[in-house]
Amino acid sequence: MEKRTISCNIHIAKSLETLDSSDAQLVKAAREALSLSYSPYSNFKVGAAALLEDGTIVKGANQENAAYPMCICAERSVLSITSNSYMGKKVVVMAIVVHNPNQRITVPASPCGACRQVLSETEDRQKTPIRLLLTSDSDETWMIGSAKDLLPLSFNGDLLS
Ligand SMILES: [Zn+2]
Repeated sequence: MEKRTISCNIHIAKSLETLDSSDAQLVKAAREALSLSYSPYSNFKVGAAALLEDGTIVKGANQENAAYPMCICAERSVLSITSNSYMGKKVVVMAIVVHNPNQRITVPASPCGACRQVLSETEDRQKTPIRLLLTSDSDETWMIGSAKDLLPLSFNGDLLS
């Protein structure tokens, strides 16, 4: 029987000062986007900011609803804004910041499964990876080279139609 191993590399920057200036600026934009969060039920706020290939920064946040399945994550909010308002522009990097006013979060939260799937398909559509920068209330930032690294063996549309 053959064994295959799938792994993911995460680079960890202990402070924003150790990021390059463009990445640090994007993390700050994602932190600003926390103010856009509508999260009265969980108090779990997520801000995201995407750097597009032309230098545009698109910000968005999670939007909750009393009917929980209707909630939209920050990552997919940003990707929807990008797809609708900046059609054809590639996402180069996305920074994602989590915050809960009721407790200090010191470890980054990674995108949920649904967002991983949408990020993966966005990479397929644009044919380039999306680097991810994940952080929290601390400035420690986890850097991941491609959203697909978080969703190995992802489903795609190759078998459809
Ligand atoms: Zn999500």
